[in-house]
Amino acid sequence: MGRKKPRVLLIRPKYTSLVANLEPLGLEYLAGLAKELKINCRIHDEFQYPWAMRLYRLVRRIEHGKFDFIGFNANANTVDIIIKRARQLKQRFPNITIMVGGPEAELNYKEFCTDDIDIVYYDNGLMTLKKMWSEGYTSDKLRDLSGICYKENGKWIIKEKGAPVCGFITKPDRTAFYKGLKNNYIFMKGKFALSKASFSCPYNCTFCYCTKMNSGEYTERDLMEVVDEIEELKHDKIWFVDDTFFFDKERVRAFCNEVLRRGLKKQFMAYARADFLAANPDILPLAYKAGFRDIMVGLEAISDETLDEYNKQTSRNENIMAIKNLRDAGLVCNGLFVINYTATRDDFRKLLQFVKGNNLLWVVFGIFTPYKGTDAYDEYKDKLIHFKSWRLDGTHLTLKPTNMSSVEFMLRYYWLHAVTYPKIIVRAMLGTAYDTKKKGWF
Ligand code: SF4
Repeated sequence: MGRKKPRVLLIRPKYTSLVANLEPLGLEYLAGLAKELKINCRIHDEFQYPWAMRLYRLVRRIEHGKFDFIGFNANANTVDIIIKRARQLKQRFPNITIMVGGPEAELNYKEFCTDDIDIVYYDNGLMTLKKMWSEGYTSDKLRDLSGICYKENGKWIIKEKGAPVCGFITKPDRTAFYKGLKNNYIFMKGKFALSKASFSCPYNCTFCYCTKMNSGEYTERDLMEVVDEIEELKHDKIWFVDDTFFFDKERVRAFCNEVLRRGLKKQFMAYARADFLAANPDILPLAYKAGFRDIMVGLEAISDETLDEYNKQTSRNENIMAIKNLRDAGLVCNGLFVINYTATRDDFRKLLQFVKGNNLLWVVFGIFTPYKGTDAYDEYKDKLIHFKSWRLDGTHLTLKPTNMSSVEFMLRYYWLHAVTYPKIIVRAMLGTAYDTKKKGWF
C-alpha cells in the first residue's frame, strides 16, 4: 500500500444467465480511470471463461500479473461467491488489497464488511477511487474520503456517502468489450455495446433496486457527451442501460436529432415506461428514424391492482396503449413482466392471453423478488424463503406462493417460456422478429 502504484485486477464473477452475456461496463469505467492515472489494470471477466477451474484461473492470473489490488464487481446474486473468493485469495496472497464495489455494494455495503475484504466502495461516482489510486489507500488517507468502508485496527469504519453524481469523470476503456465480442450476445438479438446516459430513476416501484442508486436521485449526463461516446464506439448496436431513457421528451428529441444530424448509423435499445409511451406517441417515429428498434418496457403486470401493489404508477390501459403505439411506430416492445408470488392459476392464464391478445412477441418473465435495499425487502423480510444470494436473479422463488405449491408455480413459470419463446426463435431465424405488424409464426 502507500504511494507505490497499484497493479489492479478487476473481477466480474460469473453467474448463470441464459439470455445475455454483455460487456462489464462498470468495470470498464474503472479501467478507464486506471488508464488515465497510468495504472496497470486488467479486467478478469469470468463470463469469458468456462465454469470449471474458476479459482485456479484467477489465482494464476494474479500470480502472472503480479496484481496487488483486486476489485470485485458485486451484484445481488454474487455476494456469497465474492465473500468466499476474498477468503480464498487472502489465504494465498495475504498482502493483496481486496475491494468490493458495484451495485450490490452501493446499496448493501455492510454485507461485505468481512475479515477478508479490505475496502467496500459504495460512493456515488469514481472520485473517491481516483483519490485512492492517486494518493494511496492507507487508513490515514481513507479517513478523508467519502463512500467507503475500511478497517482501522481491525474495526470497520464507515465513511458517509458523497453527493449524487450527474456524469462520469472518465471514459470507459472498452478493451474488454472488443476482446469479448465473440461471446457477447442478447438472446436472439445479437451483440450489443452498453452505454449509460443517466443515473437512478425518478419513480419508486417497490421491487426496484435501480431507483435506490445514486442516493435515489435521478440525474442525467450531458447529452452531447453521450452522443460523442456512441459515435466513438466501434459497434453498431447499443443498449442504453438507463433505467428509463425515455423520460424527458425534449431530451429524447434532442438526442434523436443530434444522431440524425451527425448521420450516425446505429441501432439502439432502451428502457421506457408504459405511461410515457402511452402519452407520447408523437416522439416514437423520430426515435425509429434515429435508430431505436428495441424498447424494453416494464409492463410488470396486467391488472391495475397488481400494478398499484408494485407502486408502478401505470395502468393496464397504459400498458395496452404503450404496446400499440410502439407497434404503430415500428418499434419492438419487449414486455417485461414480474410474476407475483400471489399469482393464481387464472393469473397465469390471463397473462398468456394478454401476451397473445396484444400481439407481444418479445417477452421476459421475472419472479417478484424483494431484493435487499428495496422497499419490498422491508415489507417482506420476515416471509423470505431460500433467500440465498445465487438465487437472487428474478428467476427463483423467494416468497412462498400463496395460491399454489412452489413446484406448481415454477412449472407454470417455465410453461410461460415454453409457450412464448419458440415463436421468438422461429421469427428471429426467419428474420421477421422485428416486423411489429406480423402476428403469426412466420
Ligand atoms: S422499475 Fe423502472 S420505473 Fe420503476 S423505479 Fe425501477 S427503473 Fe424506475
